[in-house]
Amino acid sequence: MEITLSNVTNEEEAEEEKSIPEVAVSQSVNLPLLAEDKILVSVEVCLNPSSTARIEDVQTSIERMLEKRSLSYADGPVPVPIDDQFLVENVQRISICDTDEWVENHEILLFWQVKPAVHVFQLSEEGPGEELSGDGQLSSFNEWILPAKEFDGMWESLIYESGLKQRLLRYAASALLFTDKGVDPFLVSWNRIVLLHGPPGTGKTSLCKALAQKLAIRFSSRYPQCQLVEVNAHSLFSKWFSESGKLVAKLFQKIQEMVEEDNSLVFVLIDEVESLAAARNAALSGSEPSDSIRVVNALLTQMDKLKSSPNVIILTTSNITAAIDIAFVDRADIKAYVGPPTLQARYEILRSCIQELIRTKILTDQQEPLILPSYACLKEKLNAPSVHEDRGPLELAKQLQEASEICEGLSGRALRKLPFLTHAALTNPNNCEPSKFLQTLIETASREL
Ligand code: ADP
Repeated sequence: MEITLSNVTNEEEAEEEKSIPEVAVSQSVNLPLLAEDKILVSVEVCLNPSSTARIEDVQTSIERMLEKRSLSYADGPVPVPIDDQFLVENVQRISICDTDEWVENHEILLFWQVKPAVHVFQLSEEGPGEELSGDGQLSSFNEWILPAKEFDGMWESLIYESGLKQRLLRYAASALLFTDKGVDPFLVSWNRIVLLHGPPGTGKTSLCKALAQKLAIRFSSRYPQCQLVEVNAHSLFSKWFSESGKLVAKLFQKIQEMVEEDNSLVFVLIDEVESLAAARNAALSGSEPSDSIRVVNALLTQMDKLKSSPNVIILTTSNITAAIDIAFVDRADIKAYVGPPTLQARYEILRSCIQELIRTKILTDQQEPLILPSYACLKEKLNAPSVHEDRGPLELAKQLQEASEICEGLSGRALRKLPFLTHAALTNPNNCEPSKFLQTLIETASREL
């Protein structure tokens, strides 16, 4: 069965998507169902920055706690048990992940249906290390130790429909598993190249970083060291072509050193890969120095070399939705079209923004705490109205839905900026009620469009 990862919103985009050849991936390897029909649910445990506890000890304690408590499982935080001094001292938060696709109509998974997989991690607070390119201005790459504090919460903040994130995570996890188990690539072929393509501002770069962070957490017992190297393709192919060859060599030498460590997992993120094709085409047509073609070729050769390393995942993004003529991109196994947010995604993005403004008390309401229903919940409530329903949040949710309809055409990036622009447009920004704010948001969105 051929599967394409996509988040297509209309026929035109579907057509565009077809122009990139897709590689077949078998779905059967990806279902996290266990032999006894239990569902594998991830439980992520973030340690305090100051904790020096052994990961194994925390993991055992958490597993014991989960066994004892007969929890029900739904995505979200689980309180750290206050009667467990060891956990209280060492654990910052416990979150349940990935139950979404298993539960419909807001049901919850019960403990006996679930096999929890506990992942304990500590966030790196080191920040990015960067390397400057030849002119001393643009940095040619940034590197982070994963999981990094900067990317904490990024995965959850990205909202797509149709399980795009989950499928990406599973495909990448399968690729790592095949490698780790030593599957013969001549018999079963796969690679570890991910390509996300689609219009600008749809969260592709963020999704790559968030995916790397998630995989770093999920594979931490196999790969205790994880790094992300973000290559700035623009800076590599800027005016300093004669320098670029050296930069590419230096960059890949560094990556190669990281990769040689068997227990480290390396993610290489190349943003806007189309700039490679552009540089090569320009060189071929004679409008760029022929140096540039050497740089592109050097980069492709290095990428090919890297591909044979089992502990590297190459993440690429492109703003071009039509065919991209780059050799390694054609070979990407995991290709996903990341489209503009659909109505439901727009609602959820705006809902998270409004909820954040309520949390920070920029928006105030008599009703505390004000919790807006999710899109699915709103639909249900509108279909089957209850007389006992509190009208406040429901009315607000309807207004939010109207705003989400009006915002059709705005990218995820534009949507996340909209509440800020709205606030700046308020005549009386102090003491602003959510409903008045949403009214202004609708006006601001219409102006933006
Ligand atoms: P791209 O690489 O596609 O141009 P970015 O990753 O730079 O997009 O996205 C910029 C920001 O826009 C993200 O950090 C995020 O805040 C927001 N964003 C974009 N798409 C979404 C989405 N689907 N859900 C939530 N936020 C989004």
